[in-house]
Amino acid sequence: KPVAIITIGMAGSGKTTFVQRINSYLHSKNPPSPPYILNLDPAVAQVPFDSNIDIRDTVNYQEVMKQYNLGPNGAILTALNLFTTKFDQVLGLVEKRAETVDYVIVDTPGQIEIFTWSASGAIITDAIASSIPTVIAYVIDTPRTTAPATFMSNMLYACSILYKTKLPFILVFNKTDVQPHDFAIEWMKDFEAFQEALATNNGTMDGDGESTYMHSLMHSMSMVLDEFYQNLTAVGVSSMTGDGVKEFFEAVEASRAEYEKDYLPELQRSR
Ligand code: GDP
Ligand code: MG
Repeated sequence: KPVAIITIGMAGSGKTTFVQRINSYLHSKNPPSPPYILNLDPAVAQVPFDSNIDIRDTVNYQEVMKQYNLGPNGAILTALNLFTTKFDQVLGLVEKRAETVDYVIVDTPGQIEIFTWSASGAIITDAIASSIPTVIAYVIDTPRTTAPATFMSNMLYACSILYKTKLPFILVFNKTDVQPHDFAIEWMKDFEAFQEALATNNGTMDGDGESTYMHSLMHSMSMVLDEFYQNLTAVGVSSMTGDGVKEFFEAVEASRAEYEKDYLPELQRSR
């Protein structure tokens, strides 16, 4: 049985480049294992991989913009909604091919909230996850997340998606060719190291070292995150060089087991 990998992440974090990289990795494996790929970004100019299903074949986002008099984000969301009305057919195609592939890979629109905070995103995610084992690959722009406050808000966003989807979750620290992700691993492992970074980098302590409102808020939030980190795996990759991709697939295999142990029983109970 295959595993579905749904890539999610902030605009520019490198989702599309990551999909391109893992696609070429799977093609060059011995024996090759070409995945089944869905592109769900209607606004992407060029898709750097051969997708089996491309939302752009169904809806023209430029036309949607004109026809409904929408701005870019509204048009992307509307295009996704229109596509979702036919998702039962898409799922049929995926299920048919699922018997012959090891991986189904989904690339999502650039702007994260279009997929994570829309009915369509939820419908598509649930449809796939109730059909085949599914993991979320949460792609992070590592060089842009070195400031402790940015790091925390990115992790809280990831946390909200984990609790919304309840699916196995892999944090993919991307662009390690530019910025190694060891600082992130340290912050996730060592609660106090992160607290310290927060205090020294953000001016959250006032002159007398007395704790301010921000400091105590950050403190409480990082306690929440500490709990969150227990529930996920983190890997560092470079979609540019291919570094860490092997480790990513090891994490995917571990997630498959997790899906079967945790997600599937829950799904069957709720039916
Ligand atoms: P998306 O919006 O999440 O799909 O992001 P893209 O895949 O379009 O990538 C955004 C930018 O980041 C592009 O300029 C990519 O070339 C760059 N990028 C993606 N992955 C990497 C990486 O691993 N290393 C470096 N240096 N740049 C990357
Ligand atoms: Mg993209």
